[in-house]
Amino acid sequence: MSKELLTGWGRTAPARAERRSPSSVDDVQAAFAERRPVIGRGLGRSYGDPAQVSGGLVLDNRALSEVHHFDATTGIITAGAGLSLDDLLRITMPAGWFVPVTPGTRQVTLAGAVAADVHGKNHHVDGSFGQHVLRLTMVTPSGVFEITPSSDPDLFWATVGGMGLTGFITQVTVQLIAIETDKVLVDTRRLNSLDEVMRELKESDATHRYSVAWVDCMTTGRHMGRGIITRGEHARVSDLDSPSLTGPSVAKLTVPFDAPSGLLNPLSIKIFNEAWFRVAPVHKDRQVQSISTFFHPLDGINDWNRLYGRRGFVQYQFAVPDSASEMVVTAIDQLSASKVPSFLAVLKRFGPGSPGHLSFPMAGWTLALDLPVGPAALPRVLDELDELVLGAGGRLYLAKDARLDGRHLRAMYPRVDEFLSVKARVDPENLFTSDLARRLDLIRK
Ligand SMILES: Cc1cc2nc3c(=O)[nH]c(=O)nc-3n(C[C@H](O)[C@H](O)[C@H](O)COP(=O)(O)OP(=O)(O)OC[C@H]3O[C@@H](n4cnc5c(N)ncnc54)[C@H](O)[C@@H]3O)c2cc1C
Repeated sequence: MSKELLTGWGRTAPARAERRSPSSVDDVQAAFAERRPVIGRGLGRSYGDPAQVSGGLVLDNRALSEVHHFDATTGIITAGAGLSLDDLLRITMPAGWFVPVTPGTRQVTLAGAVAADVHGKNHHVDGSFGQHVLRLTMVTPSGVFEITPSSDPDLFWATVGGMGLTGFITQVTVQLIAIETDKVLVDTRRLNSLDEVMRELKESDATHRYSVAWVDCMTTGRHMGRGIITRGEHARVSDLDSPSLTGPSVAKLTVPFDAPSGLLNPLSIKIFNEAWFRVAPVHKDRQVQSISTFFHPLDGINDWNRLYGRRGFVQYQFAVPDSASEMVVTAIDQLSASKVPSFLAVLKRFGPGSPGHLSFPMAGWTLALDLPVGPAALPRVLDELDELVLGAGGRLYLAKDARLDGRHLRAMYPRVDEFLSVKARVDPENLFTSDLARRLDLIRK
């Protein structure tokens, strides 16, 4: 099984695409000359179909992973769009610089982080990845553009969160954040109800740079949505007995084969959740954790997706505004009652969104669910969740979506037409497209 997380949702296998790895602007422009549908691709860590284009040309950015300039006094780095956050951190962490925003895995490329405008556990403080990008170089069918947020705000913000549909990014300049050590001081709380989890998470907006909660979506009744909150701050030299500053650790475990598809069933997940909950400390402060453990636990296990078996799983992540906090309770209540098992459920706070036309975060709540494929009720349960999200004025995360349709997209992302007119300026023939764009009508007809 590929490490890349290419999921389908009840569709037949897509027609094959040709895959190339351009190493220069000329290579990218040569692809345009063929007039075929084209899309950029990083490490394939999106869960759905944004980096696929059936019958077209996939331009893999991995040959563009050179570091062009890194200033260890200012923390500004300019690198090829295919540099992974993992490789970047191996260079910058020993010099005392960390990425301003990291998703739950370092195995994403700079271009993938820009195109999905990824968020981390610090969105309520630091916003999303695109808000720390100083410059982008991109190749479009209308030419090569080197843009900053002020030189061409429309193209910049259509590209940040634009899921690769405005052109092929070749270079990214990012402002990193200073760190004194490679450790995080972590405060943990085990809480018996969703109310408590949500109240404490909200309070953390003002007290912690990083915060996240694991929520138990399998328990009903008064403990419905009980959870474990972990909150962290970068440790300073004065916090540690023996401070160190090294790059991220390397994965030590590998899942050697696909688990049987039924392994993750309601009973096994309920047992897992119970054990996970019980093992967490009720209250622990200032526990020293490595950056890898705190930010990227799944990177410690190669091929972790095999645990879901050959049928795989669906990721479902929504955001809703603060005014719709009740909707989070209703969603978890519905999910718990449905008996559709959710292996991992992660609740986070979002601060205000970025100016990206299609950027996902909005001030309020976000819940991400990993749902093993199998239960007959799963499609219905997700359709019902879609309606709840829509009713709450929320949206789904395109980097994790594999099943939404165009009608819902426009209700969730009201700036689609604005986005499409910027796209038309740089890509008048709609060469940049993807299976996601086709599914969601993200192409001007
Ligand atoms: C374990 C895990 C945890 C995750 N946690 C989070 C999280 O906490 N927060 C979060 O926001 N996301 C999270 N994600 C999702 C992930 O961060 C995004 O999907 C990210 O975009 C993947 O980057 P990639 O390099 O693999 O890009 P791909 O998945 O290959 O592509 C993603 C998008 O980028 C575009 N793209 C790629 N290269 C280029 C290019 N050169 N030019 C233009 N467009 C390009 C593609 O067309 C596509 O639309 C997680 C994913 C995994 C597997």
